[in-house]
Amino acid sequence: MTVSDKISAIATKSSWIRKMFEEGNRLKSIHGAENVFDFSLGNPNLLPPAAFRQALKEAACEEGPGVHSYMPNVGYPGTRSAVAKTVSAEQGVTVTENEIIMTCGAAGALNVIFKTLLNPGDEIISPVPHFVEYGFYADNHGGVLIKVPTKDDFTLDLKEIESAITPKTKVVLINSPNNPTGQIYSQESLDQLGELLREKNREFDTTIYLVSDEPYRKIIYDDAVVPGIFESYAEAIVATSYSKDISIPGERIGFLTVNPKAKYKDQLYGGLALSNRILGYVNAPALMQRVIAKVQGLSVDVDFYKSKRDMFCDGLKDAGYEFNIPPGAFYLFPKSPIADDVKFVNALQEELILTVPGSGFAGPGYFRIAYCTDDESIQKSLAGFKKVMAKFR
Ligand code: PLP
Repeated sequence: MTVSDKISAIATKSSWIRKMFEEGNRLKSIHGAENVFDFSLGNPNLLPPAAFRQALKEAACEEGPGVHSYMPNVGYPGTRSAVAKTVSAEQGVTVTENEIIMTCGAAGALNVIFKTLLNPGDEIISPVPHFVEYGFYADNHGGVLIKVPTKDDFTLDLKEIESAITPKTKVVLINSPNNPTGQIYSQESLDQLGELLREKNREFDTTIYLVSDEPYRKIIYDDAVVPGIFESYAEAIVATSYSKDISIPGERIGFLTVNPKAKYKDQLYGGLALSNRILGYVNAPALMQRVIAKVQGLSVDVDFYKSKRDMFCDGLKDAGYEFNIPPGAFYLFPKSPIADDVKFVNALQEELILTVPGSGFAGPGYFRIAYCTDDESIQKSLAGFKKVMAKFR
């Protein structure tokens, strides 16, 4: 065996999203791409806004000493101050460049955070359904992921979180707007979570960190609001990226922010900077850092996603599916009409519709639709969704 036992085991299990992606490619080669309705991957089908492309051209033409050099591991000071202004407005707390670290996406940020915080066996509490990579990221750094249920509408269940907290709990990891449910956690629930964590810190004489993974913060609809977490709880870190809100997931640019009010802020920031270096990221991509400094506040046109969400919701409702209308992100998470979500997703696949079983997100009995696709696929797929529902009802 060439690869480690651990990697071999993960590769055998593979992720459901990956499986569906590969199955999609197989079906497309047989039936033609236009006849396969692929809702498996959260890969935005939207071009980045024109202002991003303009800033990229300008940044690419910049010359002078150091434009392609190593830099402080935390990122360019100018980029960090531009980002800090945006974060201050979002969090309602003044954040400076000294609380920001530029990272290789939100995924990079989460790995940096876990590397910095976790001792072997430390526990990370994660409400489910959740982004499946969390388990791998926790394991990368010796952490143990503890899954806790959410309520029926996928909002936080504080009682479940409370009963999962032990003296080994180091992190509570939340994701709002959520992948796969699209749910957003309210200010009230975040305040209650903050209160609970303060109580548990006193009870166990520990410091539990609240880590908020927020790459979908700007993908929200109607009058939805994504509250900041810094006012709810001091020991908090935000991980995020520009992957979804300006549609550049391949560029690997994101950042993390430490709450300026965190008790051990300087030690924490220093540890995070070191982890960014020694994990091999060294620093986030220089060109992208220069670009995003110029386009703070920019976002794709969310109406583009909203009309897809509404088109899908109308069609699924008509076909008899049960679901919450998601206030954010670009996923729908309907109930499978049968308990076996894998069987149901396989039945959809027979109609050339690719979705992901809820089990892949620790949410069995549901399935995920990523609607960051073209309108025609959505419209053409609805007959198949109806047919499969009729078969099981
Ligand atoms: N967190 C969540 C909830 C996600 O859905 C994703 C990507 O789909 C990520 C993190 C990683 O995103 P990034 O491209 O910023 O690393």
